[in-house]
Amino acid sequence: MNRTRSQQLYESALQYIPGGVNSPVRAFKGVGGNPLFFKGGEGAYLIDVDGNRYIDYVGAWGPLILGHNHEKVVAAIQAQLENGIAYGASTEAEVEIAKKICSMVHSVEQVRLVTSGTEATMSAIRLARGYTGRDKIVKFEGCYHGHVDGLLVKAGSGALTLGEPDSSGVPQAYSELTHVLPFNNKEAVEEYFAVHGEETACVIVEPIAGNMGCVPPIPDYLDLLREKCSEMGALLIFDEVMTGFRVAPGGAQQITGVLPDLTTLGKVIGGGLPIGAFGGKIEIMEKIAPVGPVYQAGTLAGNPIAVAAGLAMLETVSEPNFYEELRLKTKTLLDGLNERATAAGVPFTTNQVGGMFGCFFSEEEKVTNFDQVMAANTEHFQSYFHTMLEHGVYLAPSAYEAGFVSSAHGDEEISKTLDAAEKAFSAIN
Ligand SMILES: *Cc1c(COP(=O)(O)O)cnc(C)c1O
Repeated sequence: MNRTRSQQLYESALQYIPGGVNSPVRAFKGVGGNPLFFKGGEGAYLIDVDGNRYIDYVGAWGPLILGHNHEKVVAAIQAQLENGIAYGASTEAEVEIAKKICSMVHSVEQVRLVTSGTEATMSAIRLARGYTGRDKIVKFEGCYHGHVDGLLVKAGSGALTLGEPDSSGVPQAYSELTHVLPFNNKEAVEEYFAVHGEETACVIVEPIAGNMGCVPPIPDYLDLLREKCSEMGALLIFDEVMTGFRVAPGGAQQITGVLPDLTTLGKVIGGGLPIGAFGGKIEIMEKIAPVGPVYQAGTLAGNPIAVAAGLAMLETVSEPNFYEELRLKTKTLLDGLNERATAAGVPFTTNQVGGMFGCFFSEEEKVTNFDQVMAANTEHFQSYFHTMLEHGVYLAPSAYEAGFVSSAHGDEEISKTLDAAEKAFSAIN
């Protein structure tokens, strides 16, 4: 595979952009080699600057649940372009998308739009602190909530790949207010709340963890968080930036039946444009400016183009059977991967929720926690990653990322992926 142009661009990029990338997860630090540069996306495929085509399982890290350049999303963006790019004032479409989000996500009665997932979690935490008058927050090992100062503690994939679980530049005073608990460990929750429950503003969690591969909650785990938060007057925040509109129309809260006080959203709601949102009960949301004392604002918040793309996206995923088809397709892919790994004698296991999955080169039968994720074989992953890439399959360049299937992935793409995987597994041994 010729990658000359990518190599040239990477060399220039290194000169003008720190590390050559605008987000560290795009670097190939976790797998070796250099990142590719892309010039196009079509359905299930990404096209690099040398003209190579790859079946894409990154999907822009989650948003592209309809694949690249879906006609309805493109048409909505084009239609809005005729009328302007940004107004810095209210629009009808903003009201429509807010209504749509509230109707799809059960616990959300009011929602505020922002421009990224990071902004959504940062604002939700501030709101939780403002609402409760408390400072302490709880997060979980391996969960990522954007690069918010107080949340960059044991923060999952991006930071893990670089081997720097904690960021420098975060004042110790901030990280001291963040208590980190192991994900899927009920005793740790009980113990924490027995001591600090009454000082805690909120618990923020990825209800289906997606930044240490894909790790679903064990039975009754989210119920326990719900119960403890309610008992102690702390808010429960579900960070559904990844799982929102990805695993079900109503996100992880629909699947698990556990309702948080606040929900953060991003990725899929923008259809690939920069957007984020946070929402919840009216009583809590009314603490935000201009109604309440918690300040939060954004120059481009509710940007008309991002909202148009998001609305087209949400309407399309609301069509009957959308999620069931995505789930079945993803299952076919994972069943095929597991069969081929077994045939090749490679220790391998997968997790799946809807169109989101995690692959682990692990001896465990099922991966349910951070320690198991960390114990998986990264050399096997590196070898697998590069063979897949060589055979036209683009995976996230890190063993700790979830993968995504889109509605544009068809039988042909799944079958080509499995052929590549067969070679990749046998190349490991
Ligand atoms: C991606 C992600 C974020 C951060 O969103 P950005 O738009 O990258 O700022 C926050 N939380 C979760 C769960 C995510 O997956």
